[in-house]
Amino acid sequence: MKSDLVIVYHRQPYEEVEVDGQIVLRENKSPNGIVPTMKSFFGQVSTASWIAWKLAEDTNNPDFERVIEIDDTYGKYRVSRLPLRAEQVSSFYHVSSKEAFWPILHSFKEKYNYDPVDWPAFREVNWAFAEAAAAEANDDAVIWIHDYNLWLVPGYVRQLKPNAKIAFFHHTPFPSADLFNVLPWREEILRSLLACDIVGFHIPRYAANFASAARSLTSADVTRTAVVSEEMTPVGTALSERTVPVRLEHEGHEVIVHSNPVGTNFDYIEECARAEDVKEKIEEIRAEIGDLRLIVSVARTDYTKGNIEQLETYERLLERRPELHGKIRLMHVSVGANRSMTAYEEVQRSIEEISGRINGRFGSFEWQPVSLISTAIPFRDLIAYYRVADICWITPLCDGLNLVASEYCAARTDGSGRLILSEFAGCAILLNGAIPVNPFSHASMNSAIDQALDMEDEEARGRMALLRKSSKSFDVGAWTRGQLEVFEEARRGVAERA
Ligand code: UDP
Repeated sequence: MKSDLVIVYHRQPYEEVEVDGQIVLRENKSPNGIVPTMKSFFGQVSTASWIAWKLAEDTNNPDFERVIEIDDTYGKYRVSRLPLRAEQVSSFYHVSSKEAFWPILHSFKEKYNYDPVDWPAFREVNWAFAEAAAAEANDDAVIWIHDYNLWLVPGYVRQLKPNAKIAFFHHTPFPSADLFNVLPWREEILRSLLACDIVGFHIPRYAANFASAARSLTSADVTRTAVVSEEMTPVGTALSERTVPVRLEHEGHEVIVHSNPVGTNFDYIEECARAEDVKEKIEEIRAEIGDLRLIVSVARTDYTKGNIEQLETYERLLERRPELHGKIRLMHVSVGANRSMTAYEEVQRSIEEISGRINGRFGSFEWQPVSLISTAIPFRDLIAYYRVADICWITPLCDGLNLVASEYCAARTDGSGRLILSEFAGCAILLNGAIPVNPFSHASMNSAIDQALDMEDEEARGRMALLRKSSKSFDVGAWTRGQLEVFEEARRGVAERA
């Protein structure tokens, strides 16, 4: 049976775990995260499919189960799995996407590695995704493609199914045209994206960057409203103003370019924060840290996340303010990617080196200034840490949105806590009440941490009230509603064209 909604995302919508030598599929029970958020759309349609890749030693193996039917908390849906060999995964995902696209998307031109990209292999994998998506979609389906590693899929789907309704969502930033145009495959990528009916981003700045890159290389033109601002939208801008879509016209085809941030599952986090097991964990952490003030920092190990800049600021803090010795602790959670990559290994090494140096220089038998955690903390435990931490310190140099900032606010059902937030995280324009910081400036980094440490409780509570309100305003529910509205708008557009 063909589906009304086809989600195309590189990962499978469940975990594959080994039990007694057998691989079994297990639903990820936490409704937090992008996969459950996307699966929640299954409730809006009668038939749904998901396209992902699955590792296969022999892609022609007749025993490889290509399409499977799933029935879980999100309903019944089909999963079409593309068999990819390890070298195909490495080429399309780890090399093309992570070594070439990722640095450009995050404005790190110096990390961009062009040489190992095998463009025909990237095309081939994207073509396979497009074929699988077209095969699953009924004539009225929305085919919804996610993220830059599938950039060529929209153009291929348009060739295979000219009347399809195609949507694309970027979960990363989109850089200025000057940076994007560094990619030698820029025009092919842009033409593919312009074959969509809808292209979505977290915030207007990324949408504006995309529109200007599209105009710089193609005949695409802005035909209606302009994106709010190409600069940083001031904090406090009404949500409706921030999500105004623009329309681009390219070779007679109209594409809606909109922004709609994918926030957290705010209600679920609040529920966790009030649950008995989380309360017990909170007490356990409190007993362990005693009178210390806890500062929490949570990020993947990535040069974009600003871990090194943050640790260096912490070292300067302990140099500048000896009165804080024995009074504070930074819990720096930096979780590495599964696969080793030189760029990430270098960051991890620096993080370990600086943390070790700080503990060596300032620590004592009684006091450890930094606690470095390099393995993932289960989500419910993380909420307990959020609750105990006086300060949440988030300093990426570039970040599509950043969920940790909003999770911290959602977890603070007690109304206290202080958030330091980099101006270069997408959510900086959405979260009202944070202490803003420019991670490229030592002075700004120093003063933000001082401000958080010295802030009176009353001011912190006032700011947290604003933070919680703004964080809730762009939770996953708001994203879903916004997304359904834009699908509807595109449906009307397609109907008008027919
Ligand atoms: N996270 C977690 N345990 C950890 C570290 C992170 O569960 O030890 C989760 C965190 O709660 C958040 C996500 O991983 O939901 C990271 O999302 P974010 O948008 O901040 O960063 P990304 O890694 O997507 O760039």
